[in-house]
Amino acid sequence: MGNEHYDVAVVGGGPAGAVAAATAARHGATVLLVEKAIPEHKPVQCTGLVSLRTLEEAGIDSDADVVLREITGASVYAPNGRRLQLGGGRTRAVVIDRQRFDLLLLERARLAGVDVRTETTAVGLEGAGLRLNHNGRESVVRAKVIIGADGPRSRIAQWKGLPEPQELLVGFQTVAPYEPEREDAVSVFLGSALAPRFFAWAVPERPGWARIGLGTDPGRNAHRHLDDLLRKLGITKPQGLTAGLIPIGPPPRTVADGVLLVGDAAGQAKPTSGGGLYTGIVCAKIAGEVAADCARRGDAEAAALAAYEERWRKLLGKELAFGMLAHRLLASLSDASLNEIVAFLDDPEILTLINEYGDIDSPSILARRVLQSPKLWRKAVALVPQAMMLRDLLHSSRREKSSPKMDLRS
Ligand SMILES: Cc1cc2nc3c(=O)[nH]c(=O)nc-3n(C[C@H](O)[C@H](O)[C@H](O)COP(=O)(O)OP(=O)(O)OC[C@H]3O[C@@H](n4cnc5c(N)ncnc54)[C@H](O)[C@@H]3O)c2cc1C
Repeated sequence: MGNEHYDVAVVGGGPAGAVAAATAARHGATVLLVEKAIPEHKPVQCTGLVSLRTLEEAGIDSDADVVLREITGASVYAPNGRRLQLGGGRTRAVVIDRQRFDLLLLERARLAGVDVRTETTAVGLEGAGLRLNHNGRESVVRAKVIIGADGPRSRIAQWKGLPEPQELLVGFQTVAPYEPEREDAVSVFLGSALAPRFFAWAVPERPGWARIGLGTDPGRNAHRHLDDLLRKLGITKPQGLTAGLIPIGPPPRTVADGVLLVGDAAGQAKPTSGGGLYTGIVCAKIAGEVAADCARRGDAEAAALAAYEERWRKLLGKELAFGMLAHRLLASLSDASLNEIVAFLDDPEILTLINEYGDIDSPSILARRVLQSPKLWRKAVALVPQAMMLRDLLHSSRREKSSPKMDLRS
């Protein structure tokens, strides 16, 4: 066993790992963070579309040279080409420079006192230790608590026998010269031709450029769908291609003796959009606090670390469960049904609700509002009878919300 000893060791220097590590250090723990890549050279597998709330949670000013563009709305395209225009007016989201965002968070962790080691890969667990490999040299460090923030297909989860997230999506993206109709709006494309079971997007970044991509099931030919999307948008010179996995639907357990999982490793991305930054950062703060607290008390058994699991599920569990149900419902719909839904949404009453209550971090807020209008709800269920399941979930959430134990975001 190595001589080095930390209270908390974090595996993975993405946003979840950096925030968890900084939080644990600020709560008095000695913290090591290991990241296998060179952060400055890591390929960006992200569209970088986040709420302003995400920057606040991360403690990053919106003028910290991270924000490339403010987004006020969206144009949603049905499979038959019908366009629905949403939003406008106020800023609802921002497009960020994801690499700069990650580097800033790692720098914050360093400043908080975290020992950050890059080009260092966790290659195994050894009792209360972590086996590391740095440029071919192996070593072992001891840690009272290990935080697995190692992204999709988490090795920490595998080594500890923790279950995997419920579903994996693949995301393919390129950056290309493209002038959208509105510079402050994202375009979303629905339908089996471009993005079966999920959606495709064009998100403006620097003037004259956009991030163009799609998500779908791993079994599908995402590359071909991306080519089709580029052709449809008249794009001939895409610059590079990135592909990444998006785990959605948290597994039943995210803690084990001495270990907790956070971010993509814990399937905490929002199932309706695949966005994992907001949820990952919120959960990472809880993870850092609980890890530091358990290390201080010298009790890192699963029962003690379960405080993390309870706290993050109380905050986000119902929203993610709602998102998973909504994702499965949308994924099951035919192109004809998607056309009907877009036509149904193109109604002044619904557009007013969407513009007022649409929130990329909490889609259940809007669903609740639709539910409160008997006329709209009847129309929605006539179109998609399975929507009743969403209502049942929202109703059960409301009942639980009135009990002092639950605190559902709404
Ligand atoms: C195409 C695409 C578009 C996306 N767009 C958005 C978006 O617009 N908005 C949004 O909010 N989210 C988006 N996401 C999701 C978002 O990128 C992830 O949810 C987010 O990166 C999760 O952060 P994380 O810190 O949990 O994991 P990661 O960012 O994956 O970080 C994990 C880190 O662990 C390191 N690592 C792994 N194994 C080891 C090991 N054994 N030892 C040491 N280090 C290790 C990796 O190198 C990596 O740096 C998108 C994802 C994809 C694929």
